Amino acid sequence: MLDYPSYLKSSKSGKLKVVVEQLYGRLKSCDVCPRRCKINRLEGTIGFCKTARLPKVYSFMCHHGEEPPVSGKKGSGTIFFSYCNMGCVYCQNYEFSQLGKGREYEFAELAQVMLNLQESGCHNINLVTPTHVLPQILKALEIAIEGGLNIPLVYNTSGYESAKTLKLLEGIVDIYLADMRYADSAISQKFSHVPDYPERNREAIKEMQRQVGIAEFDKEGLIRRGLIIRHLVLPNQVSGTDKIMQFIARDISEDTYISLMSQYLPYYQASGFPEISRRLKNGEYEEAKKILEKYNLLNGWIQESYGSERFAGVNIKPV
Ligand code: SF4
Repeated sequence: MLDYPSYLKSSKSGKLKVVVEQLYGRLKSCDVCPRRCKINRLEGTIGFCKTARLPKVYSFMCHHGEEPPVSGKKGSGTIFFSYCNMGCVYCQNYEFSQLGKGREYEFAELAQVMLNLQESGCHNINLVTPTHVLPQILKALEIAIEGGLNIPLVYNTSGYESAKTLKLLEGIVDIYLADMRYADSAISQKFSHVPDYPERNREAIKEMQRQVGIAEFDKEGLIRRGLIIRHLVLPNQVSGTDKIMQFIARDISEDTYISLMSQYLPYYQASGFPEISRRLKNGEYEEAKKILEKYNLLNGWIQESYGSERFAGVNIKPV
């Protein structure tokens, strides 16, 4: 079937090739993400994301712990990229996202990883923190398509994205799994070293919604296409849950699928920040659930029990 995943059609029409050329060319004066470092990554210079021409990969696996329609029965083919365009002081993946554990992959090697994940039965290719290595991922995708790749891409992002870059992914990415972390720029600067997170994040979410819309599922309950928004509830209302949910209900859709996450733990440098130096309290997660109900946002997943990484049913029940 040529229409799904949508990158097959774009590959056939030549659109994918054009996008790859454009995006790869932008590495010469990098503005792939909103940081706009404007350095030449093709010559080995690095910007905020510390990644030059080749992508670095920490690990890959068939992941069974993502939201139920992403992991399905056979797992999600997850690729964890090293480094990130954010700098979260509490990052649970800091060893590779901040400290850069992992190794560089040639494009053909990365393509082979995708094909191996497909071969092992995974439902999709789940690109974790792909933003800063998007041109390189698409180079690998072209090779993987030649090799027979035919499962959809999940663009699994912190949500600090350039809308201009995302526009190029129309007809290439079918599934967006995107964070909405903060509603306040002083807070995003303090805890993630991103001064303009709320603005860029909202633009990005609008663009994703325009491209793929409300999530659609197949007979088995697997996501085929659409947007899922993840929201990690941080202690002391640092993540601005109310403002974020109001935005989703008003500017995206009340039908949006939301994954409300409770598993925050003070990793990495979080102990140095009193507001977030402890785990979330049960009452704080319950409060966040009530906010979803207030805005009539009842599609998605809440954690099975506070603090766990397991998800409860497909519809968020009123609390
Ligand atoms: S992708 Fe990296 S180098 Fe490019 S603008 Fe973003 S942080 Fe800077």
